[in-house]
Amino acid sequence: MTALALGPDSTGAVLVVRNGSVGHFGPHPPDAGAGRVDCSDGVIIPGAVNAHTHIYSALAPLGMPAPQREPRNFVEILEQVWWRLDRSIDADSLRASARLYAAEALLSGTTVLVDHHESPNLIEGALDVVADACEEIGIRAVVCYGATERNHGLPEAQSGLAECRRFIVTNRRTLVRGAVGLHASFTVSDETIREAGELCRASGAPLHVHVAEDAADVEDARRRGYEGPLQRLHRLRALEPRSILAHGVHLSEDEVRFAEQLRLWLVQNPRSNRANRVGYPSSLRASSHVALGTDGYPADMHAEAEALREDGARNGERSAVMADRISCGHRLAGEILGIDLAPLAAGGAADAVVIAAGRVRHVIVAGHLVVCDGQLLTADIAKIREEAAREAAQLWERMRSTAVRRGSGMRLL
Ligand SMILES: [Zn+2]
Repeated sequence: MTALALGPDSTGAVLVVRNGSVGHFGPHPPDAGAGRVDCSDGVIIPGAVNAHTHIYSALAPLGMPAPQREPRNFVEILEQVWWRLDRSIDADSLRASARLYAAEALLSGTTVLVDHHESPNLIEGALDVVADACEEIGIRAVVCYGATERNHGLPEAQSGLAECRRFIVTNRRTLVRGAVGLHASFTVSDETIREAGELCRASGAPLHVHVAEDAADVEDARRRGYEGPLQRLHRLRALEPRSILAHGVHLSEDEVRFAEQLRLWLVQNPRSNRANRVGYPSSLRASSHVALGTDGYPADMHAEAEALREDGARNGERSAVMADRISCGHRLAGEILGIDLAPLAAGGAADAVVIAAGRVRHVIVAGHLVVCDGQLLTADIAKIREEAAREAAQLWERMRSTAVRRGSGMRLL
C-alpha cells in the first residue's frame, strides 16, 4: 500500500513510497493512490550523508567559552577546548545536543549522521541517549563511543568498548546502528586497539576512529615503534573492512592506497581541518573511498561542500572531487546500514530531499515525511532550541570549572 508520494518535481519525476522504501522513482507516475506532496518548483534528490561528526558538540555555537589562552597547536586545541567540553557532558546536555543536531541536520537536508561520541563522565548508556534522540527526530544514524585512555587509563577505554558492545547487542531501533569506536591511535594502548578489533570481528560492526588528523598522531605511533597510526591499527588487527578513518590528513599516498586495499573508508572534514590548521589532505586523492564529514560542525553538507570547493581549488584538487565525496557518503552509509541510498530507485531507501529555490523544502526518511515546507514535523523546533539554550548555559558553567589537563594515557609531544 502506498503511504506517500512526492512530486512531480520540476523535472517531472515522482517518488512513490511503498512499505518504507522507494516503490517508484521516475518520470511516469503510476496511479499512486495516495496523498501527493507538492514539489513542482523543486527537485527530488537523495538525502545527504554526514560521514563523520560529533553530535555532543551541537551546543558549541550557543556561546561556548573561548579558551583562556590561544592554543598553540592541535593537541592544545583538544586539551583546552574539546576535551574540556566532553568531560562536562551529562545526560541532559547530551540529549539536548542530540535533539538539536538531528533536527537541524534534517532541516538542512541531511538524512544520515555517522557519529563519534565521547563523554568520559557519562559512558554507560550514552549511546542510548544519542540514538533515542535520532530515532525520535527521525534521522538515520551510526553511533559509537570513541574509547580512549586519555583521562583514566585502560579502565576508561574498557568502559568505552563495553558501551559499544552493549549498544550493538541491545539496539533494536529502526533508524540507528552501532559501530565500534576508538578516539585515536595516540590516546590508546596496543591492548585497547586489539580489543576493539576483537569486538569488530565478534559483532560484525566496523571501527570508527580518527587517523593522522595531525602530525602528533603519526609521531606518537612512530615513537611506539610503528610506521604510523594506520600501520599500528592494522598490525593490531583493528581494521576490518568497512571501517571508517576520519581525516587521514597526514597519511602518505601509499598509505591511502593501502587503506583502499583494506576496503576502508576515509572521511575528509574541510571546515574542521581549516579551523584546526592541520593542513589540506592532498593524499586522499589516492583513494576512491573518501566521503565528506563535518567533524562536529552543523550537519549542513552544502556548507561543508563549499569549504571543500574553496580549499580544494587552492590545493589543485580536480573538479570531480565534490561529486566523488557525496557519492562515497551514500556508499559508506549504505554499506554500514545495509540499504541503498543513491541513486533513488525502486527497492532502495526512501530517504529523499526536495530542494526548491536553493532551500530544503521537504525531507523524507525511511518513507516518512519529517520536514514539510521547511518545517520539522517530528518535534517542536522552538522547544528544542529553548532546551538547547538552557542546557548550554549550564554546560558552560561546568566547563569553566573543568581544568585543562593532559591525559594520563597519552604520550604527547
Ligand atoms: Zn572527529
